[in-house]
Amino acid sequence: MKNIKSKILKEIEKSKPAIIKFAQALIRAKSENPYVPGESRNINKPIEKQVAELIFSELKKCALKPKYVSALPNHANVVCPLKNKGKPVLILNGHMDTVASGSEKKWKYPPFSGKILKGKLYGRGAMDMKSSLAAMIFTLKILKKFAPVLKGNLIFTAVVDEEPGACSEIGTKYLLKQGLNADACIVAEPGTEKIRAGMKGYFRFKIIAKGKAISTGSGAWERKEKGENAVTKMAKILLALEKLKFENKKSIITPGTLIKGGTGINIVPDYCEATVDMRLMPGQTKIMVKKQILDCLEKTKQKSVQIQDLMFVPGVSISKNEKIVEILEKNAKLILGKKPKIALSPSSCDAHFFIKKNIPTICGFGPNGDNFHGANEFVYTNSIIDVCKIYTLTAFDFLK
Ligand SMILES: [Zn+2]
Repeated sequence: MKNIKSKILKEIEKSKPAIIKFAQALIRAKSENPYVPGESRNINKPIEKQVAELIFSELKKCALKPKYVSALPNHANVVCPLKNKGKPVLILNGHMDTVASGSEKKWKYPPFSGKILKGKLYGRGAMDMKSSLAAMIFTLKILKKFAPVLKGNLIFTAVVDEEPGACSEIGTKYLLKQGLNADACIVAEPGTEKIRAGMKGYFRFKIIAKGKAISTGSGAWERKEKGENAVTKMAKILLALEKLKFENKKSIITPGTLIKGGTGINIVPDYCEATVDMRLMPGQTKIMVKKQILDCLEKTKQKSVQIQDLMFVPGVSISKNEKIVEILEKNAKLILGKKPKIALSPSSCDAHFFIKKNIPTICGFGPNGDNFHGANEFVYTNSIIDVCKIYTLTAFDFLK
């Protein structure tokens, strides 16, 4: 076994230039996804198409059998098994879309250039998570050569539409609905510092406060006979929400992330809306937190106030003793020289879909870099290779 593992590591070393070149190609294939859930979107816009095609043809080249699985014609997920059958099954999952690159002026190098300088590969998606995708694809390509000694099966899934909040109907969730199943899964969100054995979830909602408009110079307003200020009403509500205490201190509420109200500088505002973002720990259900929020609103005694649910993703966790956690930890230590911490991810990703289906899932382990979601996002090229080794050895151990 040791002998095979050292062969695997040698193969990855040999493939180093090809892996980095492929990560570069993925960065150059733009896949910015600016969609905000709840807003209308042009579903025909082929956001991830170019990335999906690159991945598909790269897998095909080495006699693997990728498939497109799509809920919408222009948003195809790529699914590629290592073999036709075998147990146990491990899934490697990564998303193909990225956040927008923002103002190009803030970037040292153009965001889609894939520039490499001093061991750093720059570009939108470099860290989150096109280099993870490259590492996973080469895991599959390299394990293909060792497939006969593996009892189990590996399934690689490159999915669409994760960035708008890990709550899409057309990406990971769709694949699971179509019957995708496994004994464990790794979601490739970046960073090797920690093995994320769970993640925080979130609840986002909108508050609408209504008032009554009247000129701020009118006698009726002066005498408080007419008019009602929807904005100050909202202010009281947001301040009350800010003081809300939750059982777990890591559950954070941020009231007023977006706010809109009023129609004129000299008119009493008759309308105000504000969004609230709340981060949830595993175990906090939507019913539970919503009750707390409604109780809080009630205590403010403000009338004509409504709340509208926008998005909900549950907080989830898995046991530290899961086989996938132990194997990943062991191989991370072997390659990196130190054990990563096991911790909860503070942000959300598609992993909750797998965990809700009882598939023990790592909620993030991938190459290191910096500035993800910001200007000058980059990934360390050496880290891509380290992570490719860790993914490959982990898959090998899990499936042998
Ligand atoms: Zn991501």
